[in-house]
Amino acid sequence: MNKAQTAIAQSLLETPKKIVIVGHKNPDGDAVGSTSALSLLLKSQGHDTQVIVPNDFPDFLKWMPASEDILIYNQKVERANQLIKDADIICTLDFNSFTRVGSMEDALNQATADYIMIDHHESPSDYAVLTYSDTAMGSTCEMVYHFIEAMGQLEHISEAMATNMYTGIMTDTGSFRFASTTATTHRVIAGLMDAGAVHHEIHENIYDSSSPERLKLLGVALKNMRILPEYKTAYITLSQKELDENQFKKGDTEGFVNYALSIKGIIFAAIFIEHKKDNIIKMSLRSKGDFSVNLVSREHFHGGGHHNAAGGKSDLNLTETIRYFISILPRYKDQLLAHA
Ligand code: 5GP
Ligand code: MN
Repeated sequence: MNKAQTAIAQSLLETPKKIVIVGHKNPDGDAVGSTSALSLLLKSQGHDTQVIVPNDFPDFLKWMPASEDILIYNQKVERANQLIKDADIICTLDFNSFTRVGSMEDALNQATADYIMIDHHESPSDYAVLTYSDTAMGSTCEMVYHFIEAMGQLEHISEAMATNMYTGIMTDTGSFRFASTTATTHRVIAGLMDAGAVHHEIHENIYDSSSPERLKLLGVALKNMRILPEYKTAYITLSQKELDENQFKKGDTEGFVNYALSIKGIIFAAIFIEHKKDNIIKMSLRSKGDFSVNLVSREHFHGGGHHNAAGGKSDLNLTETIRYFISILPRYKDQLLAHA
């Protein structure tokens, strides 16, 4: 965060404020971690804070410190709308466009609060008085750490805050292995461990908490995987029936797409998941190197995200979505084959 941005933050936070902190729809570890950590910091400084997310988050994140204080918008609409209306400041973390908050969009559009954005996704919208956006960052949690550092408050990081930030950095960097992980990321992690984050407990809480059903669903996903070596592409499908047969719970498919990307020679991977209730196919896209799944998602699947990790949706049925996906691959053939 630069000096001008720090000055804006300092002046906004000089006196106690009513602050709402918002994460994106289908919150992940980075969203829960960054919003909870910032909320705990601002609360410790006398602000009145409340984290709100559009919908519920998966059970494997429910152990996170202060996650029980998060208000789930679609479960308490009236109370959440009142808090948003009354807020002096609204911090939006881990997203950069109101289209990422589902049914909260109207409330955010109507709010009179000053907005602070802290986010690492591409193409930020222009709604905040303080836009701290850095697409080179591997996670919003790392940015929250830099925010705290710029504000001169590193010594105020509690064990709970450190645990939250460590979790978000770990989950958004694929446990520190994606290209976005830097030496600075590791220095931040060291700072968080000094502040009390216990890495092996966090890792166990996140990665060793599968239900047997989740692993059976992974088996189905791997069986359904198709490889298109001529496009260095692999994709997975899961139908609603397959989800139902394996007692699917929110978050169960997290990380499945990475198996497709782990095949030697594959640089583009996708998972397509049927959501019968909403009549859509949700997808996660992943890539290696120069190939941008952010652009593929923006162009074809009403989505976006990062260069190597993006998400989107399709209104076609599962079969048609796959047919469409395969039909666009020739357009990217040169880019896909350019990768060594
Ligand atoms: P995931 O595939 O893990 O759901 O998401 C990968 C990345 O893409 C995340 O950073 C997420 O915020 C972003 N993303 C996922 N779904 C969407 C979407 O529908 N629209 C946009 N703009 N970004 C998305
Ligand atoms: Mn993130």
